[in-house]
Amino acid sequence: MDTEVKVPLIERESGRWEVVIGLEVHAQVISESKLFSTARTSFTVEPNVNITLFDIAFPGMLPVLNEECVRQAVRTGLGLNGQVNTKSVFDRKSYFYPDLPQGYQISQFFHPIVSGGYLDMMVGGQGGYVKRVHLERIHLEQDAGKSIHDLFPGKTAIDLNRAGVALMEIVTRPEMRSAEEAAAFVKALRLLLRYLGTCDANMDQGSLRADVNVSVRKEGEPLGTRVELKNINSIKFISKAIEVESLRQIELIESGGKVLQQTCTFDPNTCIVKPLRAKEDEIDYRYFPDPDIPPLYIEQSFIDAQRECLPELPLMRVDRYQKMYGLAPYEAHVLVEDKSVGDFFEEVVAELRDKPQAPREAAMWIIGEVFAATSALDVGVYDLNITPGALAELVLCVIEGVISRPTSKDVFAHMLKTGDAPRAFIEQKGLMQISDEETLLTWAREVVQEHPKEVEAYRGGKGKLRGFFVGQVMRKSAGKANPQVVASAVNKALSED
Ligand code: ADP
Ligand code: MG
Repeated sequence: MDTEVKVPLIERESGRWEVVIGLEVHAQVISESKLFSTARTSFTVEPNVNITLFDIAFPGMLPVLNEECVRQAVRTGLGLNGQVNTKSVFDRKSYFYPDLPQGYQISQFFHPIVSGGYLDMMVGGQGGYVKRVHLERIHLEQDAGKSIHDLFPGKTAIDLNRAGVALMEIVTRPEMRSAEEAAAFVKALRLLLRYLGTCDANMDQGSLRADVNVSVRKEGEPLGTRVELKNINSIKFISKAIEVESLRQIELIESGGKVLQQTCTFDPNTCIVKPLRAKEDEIDYRYFPDPDIPPLYIEQSFIDAQRECLPELPLMRVDRYQKMYGLAPYEAHVLVEDKSVGDFFEEVVAELRDKPQAPREAAMWIIGEVFAATSALDVGVYDLNITPGALAELVLCVIEGVISRPTSKDVFAHMLKTGDAPRAFIEQKGLMQISDEETLLTWAREVVQEHPKEVEAYRGGKGKLRGFFVGQVMRKSAGKANPQVVASAVNKALSED
């Protein structure tokens, strides 16, 4: 993998253009209760049940900070290499919205809980490059409720289950340069949050969503004016929105226009960017420290203790897989990309500790057959009929030469269907690989006798025909012959008269 960062430029008649992207990612914190109340955060379809009087802004109700949300934000900050601040402050951000009963959101503006940090990510899969994106900050804030427009004709219903749930807003610097890089960032962030266990990052349920800031400039020019595309909740739509918006801006500037700083929505169905409002300035929000919440002081010893108990994070795991198991960088990345796949892989390998070839063989099986099965059935690895123990047994049969490779694929298919253990099935069906030299030599001699024309051609210089003879012997064995032993048996039979 390349570590050189490439700047993708868009070639136009008007010159070479650079797209600049900064993201504000909202990640819902995993915690039992909300940021300032004891209301549950569990998902429910019944509206307005996960609420307390505080969440509906009943006069006189006071916020009580949930320590678990603070702990999760600290862990996220550490996982993202940020500076956890020992003092942070909650501010009121005033705006009117029907699903925001307080008339303001409690957020952190002047003193966020985490400053700085960065995330390294792989862009472009195999043959791609590694890029570091720096963060401005991470702050804690409340989520809003939900307005439901299609329930009663002509009316809007309000569901406050989500109101007051803790969000982490993770703000990057404007350092991404293409839709692909932005997508890679969100993927890497999603993975990290899942490894940390601080956000489930299910974008389709809205627990991870991004405001996408896009501007364009000609190569070498200062940063252009940004347009903010609100609340996009799929990686595919983030990429599409960036492509559409950057092209719109380039064409606008080319035709003599000027980009206005605006907040817009992106409609993924029509691919149209629509302005929502002119971008507010800070002053419109009238930020001020919430008088009901004292400043948050975090002991350095608490931060250190959280750092101590961080789990192994994705890039460390990728590194370990290469060093400890001799996997190629691509193999390691693919296995780590889904936490449960990495766990599954390690369970298989743990069963085969004394076999040095096992990790690569297991990786090959998972990336090949197991992925084919999980995507065909649309399930996770642990939902398959095949346990890590059973796959380990199959891998061992292959390593030990008990079955041939073609047979092993059939055995896998059978296991997938029935959940049977491989060894018993192999024995019961007599699928063992035939490595016996005498037997294979006998077949090789038969093949030579049965194909005089090919033998003549082979001896006349058509060396490629050797593969044909090997294939014929494999056929006689019904795919069970050991190919290496067959190869030497064929050589021997051909050299005889
Ligand atoms: P706001 O909440 O007003 O949108 P923030 O400071 O929270 O302001 O977020 C600004 C976001 O916009 C950051 O992600 C930053 O990287 C991005 N950004 C700033 N300037 C540009 C620019 N010229 N082009 C693209 N993105 C930008
Ligand atoms: Mg914003």
